[in-house]
Amino acid sequence: MLDPKRIAINQATTRAQWDFRESVEGYARHGVRGIGVWRDAIERCGMADAKRLLADNGMTVTGLNRAGPVVGLDEGARRAALDDARRAIDQAAELSAACLPVLPGSLRSKSKDMNAVRIQYREALAELLSPARKAGITLALEPLHPMLAADRSCMNTMADANDLCDALGQGIGIIVDVYHVWWDSRLEAEIRRAGKDRLVGFHVSDWLVPTRDLVFDRGMMGDGIIDLRRIRRWADGAGYEGPVEVEIYSNLDWWTKNPHSVVEVCLERCRSVV
Ligand code: ZN
Repeated sequence: MLDPKRIAINQATTRAQWDFRESVEGYARHGVRGIGVWRDAIERCGMADAKRLLADNGMTVTGLNRAGPVVGLDEGARRAALDDARRAIDQAAELSAACLPVLPGSLRSKSKDMNAVRIQYREALAELLSPARKAGITLALEPLHPMLAADRSCMNTMADANDLCDALGQGIGIIVDVYHVWWDSRLEAEIRRAGKDRLVGFHVSDWLVPTRDLVFDRGMMGDGIIDLRRIRRWADGAGYEGPVEVEIYSNLDWWTKNPHSVVEVCLERCRSVV
């Protein structure tokens, strides 16, 4: 069974119901001690108050969402995105976040060149790595499902993420989000290839059949077709010992429910199916 101490919740899971303070206090009340946080929520709360709240509740930050998108932009916008990513690195350091995901972005309306945006992503990461290393912040690559390849992410598989890590060296890691990678026939091998040093996060939810919205219809663990326990065991088998983070975007279902019951169901499902 999953060690309950490893369970974390991404604030997005209750973002329709709770602001930053309410999520920190709400999760803590249910014994959760890890939270994935969002920059807009931190900024609304204020950095000093956010840090105090986290400390008062014994809560650690699994990741700060997020830097990017950084590709498919004209030069001015690209520079602005990289400057903003450097600010995100500083904020992640202030929060002692375990990592900072860097969303790639992808094609703009007039371009069809996926290779060009993939190269832009690698170059952007290379540029951000030096301030990130200085700040002690691991940049996280999170492959997103290919249904998002056109506009949100030009990095869609664990193999792509591992290749980028090979190319870029220290200071970069990978988040396995089962919602995005469960379908991949290379998943087990690429998780093993990533290994203990690269795996910095493990996000859980479930894939519903049918899915009503490509972004906002994630299911509760156990309600869909992802073999969560098997994939979690692959990660653990590769040496991963970090948080297992519930991340559910669900404007049709879970975002409409009482947030305390949502957290209770998350914890129960983590115990029974993850
Ligand atoms: Zn995720």
